[in-house]
Amino acid sequence: MTIGVDIDGVLADYQGGLRQVIAEDRGVDPETLTRDTDWYFPQWDLDAEGWRHYHNLAVKGGLLARLDVIAGAKPALRKLRRDGCRIRILTQRGATGGQVVKLADTIRWLADSKIPFDEFTQVRHKTSVECDWYVEDSPEHIEALQERGKRVIAFDQPWNRQASATHRACGWEDVYDIIRRESGLAAGA
Ligand SMILES: [Mg+2]
Repeated sequence: MTIGVDIDGVLADYQGGLRQVIAEDRGVDPETLTRDTDWYFPQWDLDAEGWRHYHNLAVKGGLLARLDVIAGAKPALRKLRRDGCRIRILTQRGATGGQVVKLADTIRWLADSKIPFDEFTQVRHKTSVECDWYVEDSPEHIEALQERGKRVIAFDQPWNRQASATHRACGWEDVYDIIRRESGLAAGA
């Protein structure tokens, strides 16, 4: 069984990293920027253009190589692999802009963070990659995958709560439990 796992908002705390970059740029305490944000961070007075500005700034500053790992991700991935699953990292990073720095920093981050995985795929449309399960936080990808009858676990984040998801996980323990329950995995098999 292959599990397609997104990076930003699922494995990596991109929002927390970007928040730090913006706070530094604005000379404010990061705590003044709420974690309860929608896509493109309108709560931080950003829109698509404003987000892109800070995103580019963050990428140039090497943010993608030093994001925090989201709690519970590594033990859950280790358990899934122990149970016989293959972990396929699926990311849009660099797939739209093609910047080499994104790819290099992403690989460095995966290695430095010791994320357990089997394959790495850079992809714009996740529906073009075959997996048995997808773990995803983007409302656009969640809905596109579900429309094609794929099994998706919405990784609960404030920005995807409007997306109607068949499966929703609040954290990585939940992801593991859903896959195990729905797929009949035997722990430690
Ligand atoms: Mg994501």
